[in-house]
Amino acid sequence: MDLANFSDFEMVTVREALADATRRLTFASDTPRLDAELLLARAMDTTREALLLNRMDAEAPLAFELLLDRRTRGEPVAYITGTRAFWTIELKVGPGVLIPRPDSETLIEAAVAHFAEQPPGTVLDLGTGPGTLLLAALAQWPDARGLGIDASEVALAYARENADALGLAGRARFQAGDWAKDLHGQFDLILCNPPYVERGADLPRDVADWEPHQALFAAADGLREIRRIAPDLPRLLAPGGLACIEIGAGQAEAASALFEARGFAVAPHRDLGGHVRCLALTLCDSAP
Ligand code: GLN
Repeated sequence: MDLANFSDFEMVTVREALADATRRLTFASDTPRLDAELLLARAMDTTREALLLNRMDAEAPLAFELLLDRRTRGEPVAYITGTRAFWTIELKVGPGVLIPRPDSETLIEAAVAHFAEQPPGTVLDLGTGPGTLLLAALAQWPDARGLGIDASEVALAYARENADALGLAGRARFQAGDWAKDLHGQFDLILCNPPYVERGADLPRDVADWEPHQALFAAADGLREIRRIAPDLPRLLAPGGLACIEIGAGQAEAASALFEARGFAVAPHRDLGGHVRCLALTLCDSAP
C-alpha cells in the first residue's frame, strides 16, 4: 500500500457516515437523516436506538454503502431493511407487499377507544397485507383471535411469517379471498385498509415505482374497492362491534355516504396530519 494514500483508508465513524449519507439522501428522500440511521443500523445489525445511544464513534462498515446506494435509487427503506415498525410490533416486509404506514395506526387507535371497557374477541382484517392491522390488534388484545384476508399470495406469505415471528400464529389465520366474499360468521372488530388512491394520482416515486399497485389504486375516484366491500359489512359485524375503514384524504364525505346507505353510523377519526383517515362504523340498530 502506498503510504501517501493511507488516509483514504482511514476509519469513518458512524457520526461521520450519518452526516455524509444524510447529505447524499436529500434528493432521494423527505426523511434523509432518519433513512440514514435506519440503513446504518441495519448494516451494523443493531437497532437505530442502540446505534444512536452507544455506537456513534464506532466504525461504519463498508456494507452501508450498498444499502445507501439502493436508497438513492429510490427503493423504500423498509424493503432494504426488510422490516417496518407498526403500532407495538415489528413486521417483515419486502417487494410485493404494502409497507405499513403510521396513518393506519389511526384505525387501531379508534378501536382501542371503542373497546376500552371490553376487548374484542374476534377480529377480521380485510386486505391484511403483511398482517399489519390484524397482528397489531392481536398484540393489543391478548385473548382475541382473528382472520386476515388478502388477494395476494405474496402478502399472505409475509403475514404468516410475521404471525409466527411475533408468537401470534396460534390466534391468527390467513386466507386468500376477494374481500369478504364467501366469508361467514361475525366479528367484533373489522379492520380494512383497502386501496384508495385515485388513478393517476401523483404519488412519491418510492411508492409508485416500488409498492404493489394492486394495494394502492382503486379507479378514478379511489372508491371502487370501498364500494365493493360496503355491502358485506353489515352481516359480518357483530352487535356492539366496530368496523374501522381507512380512506384517503378528501374521501370522508363520499365514503361516509356509502356506509350510511348500508345502515351504519359513521364517526371520522383524523391522522396526525389532520386528515380524516379512518371511518369508524357501528350498526345503527345495535343500540339496546
Ligand atoms: N396511504 C397510502 C399512500 O398514500 C395508500 C395506501 C392505500 O391505498 N391503502 O401511499
